[in-house]
Amino acid sequence: MKALMYNGIGQLALQDVPDPESDFVVKVLGCGICGTDLKTYQKGHHLFPPPAILGHEFYGLVEKAPRDCGYSVGDKVVVAPYAECGVCDVCQRDAGSLCAHKHYVEDGAFCERVGISKDYIGRGVFPLKEENDVYTLVEPLACVLNGVEQLNLKPTSRALVVGAGPMGTLFALLFSARGVPVTIVEPAAQRRERIASWGIETCEPGQVKKGVYDTVIIAVNKRELVSEYITLTADAGTVLMFSGLSKDEFVSVEAYSIHYRQVSLKGSFGYAMHHFKEALSLIDAHKETFSKIITHRYPLGRGKEAFDLLASGDALKIVLKP
Ligand SMILES: [Zn+2]
Ligand SMILES: [Zn+2]
Repeated sequence: MKALMYNGIGQLALQDVPDPESDFVVKVLGCGICGTDLKTYQKGHHLFPPPAILGHEFYGLVEKAPRDCGYSVGDKVVVAPYAECGVCDVCQRDAGSLCAHKHYVEDGAFCERVGISKDYIGRGVFPLKEENDVYTLVEPLACVLNGVEQLNLKPTSRALVVGAGPMGTLFALLFSARGVPVTIVEPAAQRRERIASWGIETCEPGQVKKGVYDTVIIAVNKRELVSEYITLTADAGTVLMFSGLSKDEFVSVEAYSIHYRQVSLKGSFGYAMHHFKEALSLIDAHKETFSKIITHRYPLGRGKEAFDLLASGDALKIVLKP
């Protein structure tokens, strides 16, 4: 089969690789390019040493299935890239996204077929009613739902999302779908215009009024933004560090906001299975709304071009189609 192989920083090429040998095989219909995939392509990643097939936001058709697994050939499915163990201490504390005993889909999905082990079928494979690229967004939306769970949302909450990249935009669409008033702050005029055309309020950095927003999402990986927005957050509000920062980075916070104004600083990483299931039903209910995030589709063979486009900042979500 054909696969888009990551052969090192800045290197992606369509190559022939052996077909998966698993009993359960999914023919990939679409796989979204994630921020992590882009970071790996641009800077390398300790979890994905080359050569490797990247891609984990995928859906497809069952091409091979063992007897009595609950699926038949031709069924449409979405596959979670991992599932927590559900029994360890961390899982028992409801923090499945941090489970150290996760079960994984072993192979990447920027290719024609993905093999899935028999014991993973019941954990991370879910049936779909139709073929639609919007299902590549289940995993990123699941991560957003984990972020939202960390917030102390109230009926009177007003949200501010910092950064109109794909994840910031997903947060904004989710808040709108739930009736939470939301504003997105973004320096790039082109991105602001796109979001504004969907009826979401936007503003430029420097225009954010202090004390208006009690829910602030940092969806850009710049630590100085965390410091800046803590002081702007309303009393008793919450700031969520959604974008990842590296281990050697430190964030300075204004002590007055934390103590005298009871502003909380939280973080979130990944998803747990209940977020994945909730994301799937939300996408089923709001297909058209979430589809707006997908701005481009590319054939697998033009994958490198798609990664370069994503790096330029001109696209939101790009789906690669084998
Ligand atoms: Zn992802
Ligand atoms: Zn666990």
